[in-house]
Amino acid sequence: MDRRSFLQSTGALAGLGVLNGCAKHVTTQASTIAPTLPFYDLPGPIVPIRADVDRIFRITVCLRPFRAAGPCFDVEKLGTKTVVMNYGHGGSGWSLSWGSADYAVRKAAEALPGQRDIAVIGAGALGLTAALTAQRMGYTVTLYAKERPPYVRSARATGSWTPDSRIALQNAVTPAFAADWESMARFSFGMYQSYLGAAGSPIEWTDRYALSDDDPPSAKGSPRANAAGEVETSHEFIHLNNRIADLTPKNQLLPPGATPFPTKYVQRSSSLTFNVAGYSKQLLQEFQIAGGRIETREFHTPADLTSLPQSLIVCCTGYGSRALWGDESVVPVRGQIAWLIPQEGANYGIYYKRLNMLARRDGIVIQPSVHGEQDGWNDTNEEPDRAEAEGGVKILQELYSRMKPQGGRQRNASV
Ligand SMILES: Cc1cc2nc3c(=O)[nH]c(=O)nc-3n(C[C@H](O)[C@H](O)[C@H](O)COP(=O)(O)OP(=O)(O)OC[C@H]3O[C@@H](n4cnc5c(N)ncnc54)[C@H](O)[C@@H]3O)c2cc1C
Repeated sequence: MDRRSFLQSTGALAGLGVLNGCAKHVTTQASTIAPTLPFYDLPGPIVPIRADVDRIFRITVCLRPFRAAGPCFDVEKLGTKTVVMNYGHGGSGWSLSWGSADYAVRKAAEALPGQRDIAVIGAGALGLTAALTAQRMGYTVTLYAKERPPYVRSARATGSWTPDSRIALQNAVTPAFAADWESMARFSFGMYQSYLGAAGSPIEWTDRYALSDDDPPSAKGSPRANAAGEVETSHEFIHLNNRIADLTPKNQLLPPGATPFPTKYVQRSSSLTFNVAGYSKQLLQEFQIAGGRIETREFHTPADLTSLPQSLIVCCTGYGSRALWGDESVVPVRGQIAWLIPQEGANYGIYYKRLNMLARRDGIVIQPSVHGEQDGWNDTNEEPDRAEAEGGVKILQELYSRMKPQGGRQRNASV
């Protein structure tokens, strides 16, 4: 996740005017309890992250399936088969999944009314939610996929509510796009609330802190680099989060001393965290418990789909759609995550020096960035970059090494 996504998903932009005003009243760094925050709104304990490169337990890379015009919902006829597409969700696949599934399955129902059997291709964020949505609408569903979790690309996502992250380019969308996006985002957001409190906390609300020593963090655009590392003119990604600003709490600039973070500015908000490992398992189990069948299968050409027994097909093949459908409008946008061992009680996110960190239950995900949301454009390299991962951990290490222990608890090096 880049700076803009972090700030937008946490409502930071919506709150900046207020925050700048608030900063003028702040004069002291000394107190641990901020005089201007009501006691009931104080930040909870902030568990320092054990930022050591030795604690990286894996490095994952994923390609965002980006389309300039936004996700594809085309309907294709293949002989007797009707195929509804549901791919191309860029950096927003988890966040938009339920709304997108609802849209695609309804479109399928309209395209071929009266069918009770449906095939869903793909078991990533979009395929799993499409399969469950179809089941809930009364279909008998068979899911076909080359890979299933944990091997799908969706398993390598940050796990944040980022519904407009790299979702489309401003100048390539139709006039209806913004309203359709809003419906999908609101629908998904509603569905996510139904997973709160479930065993294993697949979905939860967590606090996010944007930290800065210079200025209150902002979300200016940044130049992009191509695969060769050359900076080019930036792509104008569309940003629509203002349309759903009512869904998440506004960002607050916290008074100095309200948190143990050592930076001059600390902005706080709350957002949704997707604990992707547990959440994917839950979706798969729900599907199977409701009678859904999964078959491991790879389709090399569209003609392969004609061998399926179902006449109605929803295709959720993510980046794989580029090869399967020869759809070159799907552009890979590379993203890497370094995973630190999860820590009890650490369940918050920070954005600091272009580094995004989200402490999830299934790992503490670390993403340093060079050019913000322009990173990774048209880069198909899925090989982990160890130096990039270690660089991110070192940024965190520098931050936490400046942090004072909370509650007077000092660690004795000899203990
Ligand atoms: C680093 C990173 C961080 C991200 N963080 C977030 C985030 O915090 N929040 C968010 O909302 N989004 C995030 N995203 C975006 C999100 O991960 C994607 O939008 C999402 O994973 C796309 O899901 P999908 O189901 O379309 O594709 P995939 O997960 O790739 O699933 C595709 C499925 O189709 C199958 N398939 C493909 N081709 C074929 C074929 N030919 N035959 C048979 N099966 C096939 C695959 O095996 C798989 O089962 C992030 C992306 C990256 C790279």
